[in-house]
Order: sequence, then structure tokens, then C-alpha cells
Amino acid sequence: MLTVMFSGAARTVTGSLYYLEYTDSDGSKFNFAVDAGLFQVGQKVNLFKINSRLIFDPKKLDAIVLTHAHLDHCGRIPFLVKNGFGGRIYSTKATKEIAEVVMLDASKHIGEGEMADLVTQTGEIAVDTLDNKDFKINQNKLYTSLDVESALTRFQTHEYHKKFKIHPNIEIEFYDAGHILGSCCVVVTELSTGKQLVFSGDLGNPGKPIIEDPEMIKKVPGLTHIFTETTYGNRVHPIQEPKERLRETINSTVRKKGKILIPSFSVERAQEVIYLIVELMREGQIKNIPIFLDSPMASKVLTIALNHPELYDKDLQAKIKSKSNPLKYKQLQVMDSVAQSKTINSFNGPCIIIAGSGMMTGGRILKHLQFYLDKPENTVIVVGYQAEGTLGRQIVDGIPEVEVEGKMMKVRAQLEIINEFSAHADSKMLKKWITNMIHDKFLPRERVVTVFLMHGEKEASLALGEELEHSLRENIKTYWPKFSETVVLWK
Ligand SMILES: [Zn+2]
Repeated sequence: MLTVMFSGAARTVTGSLYYLEYTDSDGSKFNFAVDAGLFQVGQKVNLFKINSRLIFDPKKLDAIVLTHAHLDHCGRIPFLVKNGFGGRIYSTKATKEIAEVVMLDASKHIGEGEMADLVTQTGEIAVDTLDNKDFKINQNKLYTSLDVESALTRFQTHEYHKKFKIHPNIEIEFYDAGHILGSCCVVVTELSTGKQLVFSGDLGNPGKPIIEDPEMIKKVPGLTHIFTETTYGNRVHPIQEPKERLRETINSTVRKKGKILIPSFSVERAQEVIYLIVELMREGQIKNIPIFLDSPMASKVLTIALNHPELYDKDLQAKIKSKSNPLKYKQLQVMDSVAQSKTINSFNGPCIIIAGSGMMTGGRILKHLQFYLDKPENTVIVVGYQAEGTLGRQIVDGIPEVEVEGKMMKVRAQLEIINEFSAHADSKMLKKWITNMIHDKFLPRERVVTVFLMHGEKEASLALGEELEHSLRENIKTYWPKFSETVVLWK
């Protein structure tokens, strides 16, 4: 018997956590979770309280299977460890490495006082909302770096398509989710019966640089349930390429001899932006000006990406063969120390500054904004979602004067919003990914698969559900579970 308790990302986007209770035929019990993410949604609610409330006993949890290293998927792992979780954590190697960076950063920020600052993120998930923020010392932390260190000792890493057991009767297989480096979809199989579940984790947007496109899952004859994300269940992404927009904007700013500021999330987005800019430089489409990567967290993730060439897509593999890796370039300067960061502002002439945080709520971007925001020759390029209540949102909303670290600044720099970056599959891609499994020739025709609509706002989840029910009719049922609801999956 297997039951699931929806312990996060149910009728909301963040806090992914499925709690599964398995009872083997001999009556023995085994409890495992898929993901253990942090809730980041809801400015008006007490996020510290929400994240510290557990609806199961971590001491009774035997294993965690982690889909990827975004904070809303891995951010509660150290908290479970702190509260008695003593089992293994299964993930890919790149996920473990990025999760280390993400969880350590989070351990500095998620005290009771600071949690109120974690902001709503409906579309893209903020990993480093508070990257490098001068946080207040707060004793009442959700967890500390010691809990993170302890969590890291529990990881066991596996490659895509190399099946492994988490219990004598439960086998796991990872598929590439194409979302961020190391991200995976999870297939769970009960060996004695052949019954199977599929968890999407977060599914990527095909065509993104660096990593492979989301993989179609094949041969799941025992499939009974799919747990799918629905972040963009009601949206089709625009076809326009972000690279073209970057080219135009950078060229027009260079003509004005201005600086280009790109506030960026550290995981995935910063590396993607670097990739496209370096490509433009190599192709001669923009001038060879310095690119300053001024985010220690983004530079750590860049190093991890450089260490995993086996995860690159064909484009990047080919570029490496021809010795033109866009993640390495003479003009790319990594500014890890504060002293290095300060030298950027004495640089004369056009340059590109990529700095955290992504929503301008903290970090080194605030220093650069104080130098450049009030001069019309400069440009701020927004490459990610800006939540309400953030400085980034004020700038995007066209507020003429904003407060940056207590200083009032006129917004005179040009603003460019590039919405074409997205780490999540749109409704078309989600539908294709699910339809592919339902139409798999190995799946018995009479089977009705239940699709749980997760990790989305109400409109997005229900729109995808309707679309799936319409097109797959008698082969599926969709269900939109509530937080803490328990459903029997296998009797
Ligand atoms: Zn994610």
C-alpha cells in the first residue's frame, strides 16, 4: 500500500514536498519524501511559521528523493535533518553540489525576522532573493550551516537512467528534466507489482542554452499516477529569442558609452545570460567589453556548471569541441571578493555587470545601482520575475524615484525587460510531456492515469487540467489536491 500526503506546492507554487508512506506486503513500513522545499510565497503570511510547521514526524522519514537544487525544492532538507531525519537523500551529483550552495546561502537568511522578506514568486522561483544581504543576526533560525553540513553527509548521488533501490521493493530512475543543471524527473517503481509513479519535479523550457531539453519518459507500463508541475499551465511562451533582445540593448547602450546592469538570480539565469552574451561577442554581434560577474553565489554555480560537461546539450558540446565554450571567455571577469567588486565602479567606459540579487532586494546590485541608476546613458536589463514589494518591481513599474539602501535615487537609466527567459515548461510542453506517457504503446489502453496538478497558481493548474481532460479524455483523471490532504495511491 502507498499513500501520499501533499505537504507543499499544493495550490501554490513553492514548498514542494510529497510525503509518501509505503507498506510492503509483509507489513513493514517505509516513508519517503520527494523534495523538501521552502515555502516562499505570501508576503502577508508568516513564512517562518509556515516553514517550521511540519505535518509529519521527520524521525519517521526514511529517505528523500530530490528533483533539483532550487530553494523551493531543497530548502527544508536541513530543517528536517535538524528535527531528526536520519535517512539518505538521493539526487544527481550536480543537484547535490548546487544544493550545497543554495542551502548554505539560505541558512544565513532564514531567521524569524528575515523570513518576512522572502517574497512572492509566482513565475520563476527566486533562489537568492536575499543573496549577500546584510542580514540581521537572529538566533531563531530555521536551521544553521551545521544542519546543512549534516544534510550533505546524507546525500547519495545517481546518474540519469541508472536505476537504484531506496528500499528492497522500490526502485527509482532519474530522467533529465531540462530545468536547471542536474534537474530530474523521478520514476518510482514497486518491483513486486510493476506499479509506477512519475514526478515531474520542475520541467524545463526546451531550447534553453547549456542543458538538454526535457526528456520524454518512455516505457512506463505500470504507470498509475503523474505528479506534474503546472507553473505555466495557462501560458504559451513567446517564440522570440532573448539573445536578439540582449544584442539590441547592449549595442544601443554601448553607443551611448553607458554601462549595462543585469540583476540576476544566481542559479541558472546568470549562467544563461553569460552564455548568450559571450556568444554575441564571439559572433561579433556586440563589442568585446568586460563582463563582470559580481555574485559569489552565481560564480560558484558557474564553476559547478563548468565541472559537468556531461550534462551539456549538443550545441554546447559542439562549441567545446571547437574551443569556443561560452561559459569561458577572456572578457568574463569573476569578482568574488568585495575588494574586487569595488574596482568595477572605477572602470571607465561601457561594461556589463551581472550581480545579485535577482529582484534587487539585496546584494551587490544595490551598490552598482547607486552609481549608475540616475544616469540616462546606462541600462538596467531585467531578466527575471520581479515580485510585488521589491525594488525591482518598483523600477519595472516605472516609479521615477526609488530608495536604494536608504538613499533616494532618480531612475534615469534606460529599462529593458526581457521576458523571454524561462526555466519552466509552458502549457504546450507540459501537455506534450504527459501525452507522451499516456500514449506510450507499453501502457495498457484501458488504464486511467491520475494526474495531480501541483506547483501552480489556481488558474494555471486548473487550465492545464481542463486541457488534459479534454485531449486525453478516458485515459486520465486530473486532481487538484489541497495542502495536507492524503490520497491512497496503491491499495
Ligand atoms: Zn525549479
